[in-house]
Amino acid sequence: GIEITELHKRFPDGTVAVEKLDLSMRDGELFVMLGPSGCGKTTTLRSIAGLERQTSGDIRIGHRLVNDLPPAERDIAMVFQFYALYPHLRAKDNIAFPLRAEGTPEAEVKERVAEAARMLRLEALLERRPNQLSGGEQQRVALARALIRQPLAFLMDEPLTNLDAELRADMRTSIKHLQQRLGTTMVYVTHDQLEAMSLGDRIAILNKGRLEQVGTPLEVYNRPASLFCAGFIGSPP
Ligand code: ATP
Repeated sequence: GIEITELHKRFPDGTVAVEKLDLSMRDGELFVMLGPSGCGKTTTLRSIAGLERQTSGDIRIGHRLVNDLPPAERDIAMVFQFYALYPHLRAKDNIAFPLRAEGTPEAEVKERVAEAARMLRLEALLERRPNQLSGGEQQRVALARALIRQPLAFLMDEPLTNLDAELRADMRTSIKHLQQRLGTTMVYVTHDQLEAMSLGDRIAILNKGRLEQVGTPLEVYNRPASLFCAGFIGSPP
């Protein structure tokens, strides 16, 4: 899992994006960070990934203190809303890229690409280049590329933002399916309540850099901890 204690992030211009945040993400759970624009979700995720250095506080991934580790040594994979595939590479070579970069033997690369393709139903599309794939297919290729190294955790920042409603539903199913198959901890950032409710094992609601509530979708819906949570989740009064 991922353990965050007293995370604090103040930017050089004085903006406090995250304040004394404590969060605990369990092994294998799909943990959603939910909140309005500017509440600190992305800053928290980037801190976990090591793309942002916190002002104070500790981050542990799989019990290892990672405060001083660069992103590449944190054993996580990040999936962004812009999937940024390599345009000149076929889907299979996009997916294989992180393994080849690590010098994995080619026989193992082939095996693992085939397995990732099976999980994301990409078998028939492996020879295509990104411009021959739909947005949703490209997103699935990006997911396959992210999971190929079998990281301890996936960090996803609004990964479905660019997709239409039908594809979003489809991708939600793929993500949930992956989580169940792989048993990998997933941290999922969104400002979309419905997405949070349908995907999350637990949801953390953030407001102005602070944690308002953590709980299962039912708990936060039925027993909102504050008026803010009730309003944001849309619980009945
Ligand atoms: P969104 O859903 O819009 O992406 P968010 O919840 O992910 O929002 P963050 O991007 O974490 O929010 O931003 C939290 C706060 O920190 C905001 O007030 C934002 O303006 C501020 N912030 C983010 N990056 C910087 C920066 N580099 N310098 C100064 N302030 C920043």
